Amino acid sequence: MQDSEPEAMFFDVVGQRTTKIRNGLLGWAKNNFRSFPWRQKRNPYSVLVAEILLRRTTASAVSKIFETFMSQYPDIEAIEKADKVSLEKLLLKIGYNKQRANILKGIAKYVIDHYNRQIPQNRKELLEIPHVGDYTANAILSLGYGVPTAMVDSNVIRIINRLFMKHMPKKSSLVIIQKIANMLATEEDNQLYNLALLDFGALICTYGTPKCKICPFTKICDYYLEGNPSRE
Ligand code: SF4
Repeated sequence: MQDSEPEAMFFDVVGQRTTKIRNGLLGWAKNNFRSFPWRQKRNPYSVLVAEILLRRTTASAVSKIFETFMSQYPDIEAIEKADKVSLEKLLLKIGYNKQRANILKGIAKYVIDHYNRQIPQNRKELLEIPHVGDYTANAILSLGYGVPTAMVDSNVIRIINRLFMKHMPKKSSLVIIQKIANMLATEEDNQLYNLALLDFGALICTYGTPKCKICPFTKICDYYLEGNPSRE
């Protein structure tokens, strides 16, 4: 956003592009969805576990242990009762195993003690659980409970910054990014939309050089229109 450009005008621009971005993303995703074990048969617990396991490691590493993890520890009580050494041993394959085991046990204890063994379905209570931040809370709401929610991680921040680069404030705050993400996120097909955005950030609008040449947003993306992109 130019310093002189009123904020309302900036959000008008976002509004004008919203439908194109949603449709483009959902259309792109039809043929490009990635398949991971934690995307099958989701529930709030499996989403929570996936989010903890995926921190500071790769999806392919987590893929190798996720199903075993879920069969050995199918619910929050199983984690609470788990033998710590066995839990750490399974988690060894994805790294930070002792920290991860402590985090999972801490979460399980909190949910059992405070929420009668049920992972809560509202943001305020989710955020009171140790080690559950905004992104994990939003993932549980959207992907676990089906509550339409915008999931914002570093990939989504990067995509939004590029799409609206010309109009964004020089120091765009997370509040503005979240507001844009909320405008873009669909109510209908919200889970599909959030997963599509994750995959789009991992495969097309990547951290390094984005693959603009095969992106559906070249006609509306500021980054591309301003001549920054690679032409890969
Ligand atoms: Fe990202 Fe390039 Fe697509 Fe813009 S055109 S959204 S920078 S991949």
